Amino acid sequence: MCQRAGRVMKEVLWMKEAARYAREFERIGKRLFAEHLVGGNFGNISVRKGNKGFLVTRTGEYLDVLPEPLFVPLDGPVPEHASSEFRVHREIYRNTPYKAVVHAHPPAAIAASLVLETIIPEDSEGLMFCPRIPVVNGAPGSQEIADNVARALSSSNLVIVRGHGTFSAGRTLDEAFLYTSLAEHSCRVLAMKQNFIAPQSHSEI
Ligand SMILES: [Zn+2]
Repeated sequence: MCQRAGRVMKEVLWMKEAARYAREFERIGKRLFAEHLVGGNFGNISVRKGNKGFLVTRTGEYLDVLPEPLFVPLDGPVPEHASSEFRVHREIYRNTPYKAVVHAHPPAAIAASLVLETIIPEDSEGLMFCPRIPVVNGAPGSQEIADNVARALSSSNLVIVRGHGTFSAGRTLDEAFLYTSLAEHSCRVLAMKQNFIAPQSHSEI
């Protein structure tokens, strides 16, 4: 009887905790949409859960709607409906101490990744927080993207997968989100800078 009561109590606590994480995921998802860092039902979010695994959004889930995150163990079977990028999240948590990961599709950052090997921000926030943004390759959902992203994040909070999107990590979801926002801001500034350089060189001809 006592054991059963303990089990029920554990389940209630877990349900409360899961609901709290879901609200946090929704809050960050809404920010991603507000800043146009993700569109449609793309992108995914996760948080580390102890040293055994992590909670991640479901595949095809809209990030601005209250989600039902799934627990994915660092080792062992993965739930059927976990995010299609669960391999990337799992590899990050296996190989780094980060506690939260955000994956988004910021358009200027993606465009920059198509032509640059490494992105060197020139705006003040970019220079301060992420003076060198690595760009890596890897097909969506593959082990290659998981390995490349986890390796890059061992020395940077932010990486861009060429032609695909950002993976950013931090001690909290807010920190991971901040790096995602920063990537887009720095890449937009770099792109806009070209608009001011081009007419000048044209008038010199
Ligand atoms: Zn993606």
